[in-house]
Amino acid sequence: MRLVLLGAPGAGKGTQAKKLIDKFGIPQISTGDILRKAVADGTPLGKEAKIIMDKGELVPDSVVIGLVKERLAQDDCKNGYILDGFPRNTAQAEELDKVLSEMNAPLDVALSVDVDKNDLMKRLTGRRTCKGCQQMFNIHFSPPKKDGVCDKCGGELYQRDDDKEETIKNRLDVYEKSTAPLIDYYSNKGILKSVEGVGSIDDIFNKICSILGS
Ligand code: AMP
Repeated sequence: MRLVLLGAPGAGKGTQAKKLIDKFGIPQISTGDILRKAVADGTPLGKEAKIIMDKGELVPDSVVIGLVKERLAQDDCKNGYILDGFPRNTAQAEELDKVLSEMNAPLDVALSVDVDKNDLMKRLTGRRTCKGCQQMFNIHFSPPKKDGVCDKCGGELYQRDDDKEETIKNRLDVYEKSTAPLIDYYSNKGILKSVEGVGSIDDIFNKICSILGS
């Protein structure tokens, strides 16, 4: 299955993607995770990207498209993948369509995870991510068993630089302006499905599985 996850920052795309990996045995391609790794590794790309990410702006299309193309060409994407955080605007979506049509492997589904705007802020400010396995927790809604420690791998939890309040506001604005139009884009292509991203993580996951027909 070739799947794009759509939704505002904080809608829970990453959390659901991690569960979908286990269920479907296909990889998650998160451009945010790839960029954060480049930042952590201190590569030239990472240094350039960090300045943009800390402001909550989008990294240039040419950069992320290049990263995704490279990733899609890898062997483990042969049976499908979950794109999380890409595409982020119409130009990226069009470029993705072009690449996938050259590969003769179009998208099957664009799944939008819908969450009320007021809830997003609380979700994002409470979010903590594992340095080791990228598992996400929320100090308000789904805290780890032990403060600051990942339940899954024992790694250290941290707050992403771009999960600070000012940056979050900008990320939500950028989402409204640049990314939300993709809902219409995929609806017009007839592959859009939507799920209400409220309730427990497992409830949402079950709804997603039934939408995906499995
Ligand atoms: P995310 O983890 O998906 O919320 O991404 C974190 C940050 O990485 C975003 O706020 C952007 O600065 C950058 N980023 C991630 N994916 C993309 C993308 N597809 N296009 C441009 N910038 C991106």
